[in-house]
Amino acid sequence: MATINRQILLVSRPQAEPSVDNFKLVETPLPELADGQVLVRNHYLSLDPYMRGRMSEAKSYAQPQPLNEVMIGGTVGEVVASKNAHFAVGDKVVGMGGWQEFQLVDGNQRGVLQKVDTTHVPLSAYLGAVGMPGVTGWYGLTQIIAPKAGETVVVSAASGAVGGAVGQLAKARGCRAVGLAGGQEKCDYVVKELGFDACIDYKQHKDLKSLSMALKEACPNGIDGYFENVGGMILDAVMMRANAFSRIAMCGMIAGYNGEPIPMQYPQLILVNRMKVEGFIVSEHMELWPQALKELGTAVATGKLKYRETVSQGIASAPEAFLGLLKGKNFGKQLVKLV
Ligand code: NDP
Repeated sequence: MATINRQILLVSRPQAEPSVDNFKLVETPLPELADGQVLVRNHYLSLDPYMRGRMSEAKSYAQPQPLNEVMIGGTVGEVVASKNAHFAVGDKVVGMGGWQEFQLVDGNQRGVLQKVDTTHVPLSAYLGAVGMPGVTGWYGLTQIIAPKAGETVVVSAASGAVGGAVGQLAKARGCRAVGLAGGQEKCDYVVKELGFDACIDYKQHKDLKSLSMALKEACPNGIDGYFENVGGMILDAVMMRANAFSRIAMCGMIAGYNGEPIPMQYPQLILVNRMKVEGFIVSEHMELWPQALKELGTAVATGKLKYRETVSQGIASAPEAFLGLLKGKNFGKQLVKLV
């Protein structure tokens, strides 16, 4: 039985781009279990773009990550010791274990650990397609874009954890799904593996006119729904091709996460096209998670919802992998394997 827990703390806040120096790896002795507590060995840590926001003190929808504490993060793992009747050794669980190898939690605290069934869905998928990113895609698509069969839905960061789910869920609803992703390899995957109708390599388009022309070609009937993960020129180009009464689900604007300004060129198109533009935070819609997870879990178990993972090895690799995620070095869901 391990006695040491390796953890990564946030020790300073980035001014613009984060660096590995913002993080510190420490070793902490594992305490004895008290009554009601559960010890989980984390198998995978999820790395997500929202963590960049938590590193800063700027005003946001959530409190900043406190300095010198274990970085926040979703985890899946296995119960290795339990003094709680609800959890047995061997149970597979999902929780917010943070950037560390073990987590010691009060198992009586509601929602802190959820048992998961790995018979038909791999454990790691509970951090991706059948977890927070999948539900994010589901929510923005079904609750904000709410597409009808035959409509065209566009999504940016299309090869990623959220974007990949959006396009496949849109296809399942009879829509034309068009992605935007960085590089030919990602675009090939989005079309050939995930089944989108088209995917545009935005890096091949240096100006708005060129990107907008590419979207015109990929979306001959215009754009009815846009799932925004990026911001900047991609958003402007989509706006130029948007149909009357189109909907934009504002999910993420990763192009501005290091404080870069991302001005909007033609906000008047919101009016001209009578568009709905709605932001959302998936954790504020917990009442819909069971419905979303049911659809996502069934689709993954039956092979209808595909996903890809980029897995870095060991807790020490987490900072570097996280910085890579913010630069698009990940291909699909970014995870850290801890066992
Ligand atoms: P991804 O797996 O999609 O990884 C991030 C991707 O963003 C990169 O792979 C890269 O893809 C793309 N990217 C990074 N920088 C830029 C840039 N400057 N311009 C264009 N693309 C860039 O991450 P997720 O699927 O986990 O998250 C996708 C989005 O959803 C993020 O914006 C995230 O913040 C947001 N989100 C929002 C939630 C909410 O509740 N609102 C919840 C969860 C996620 P490429 O190489 O293709 O450019």
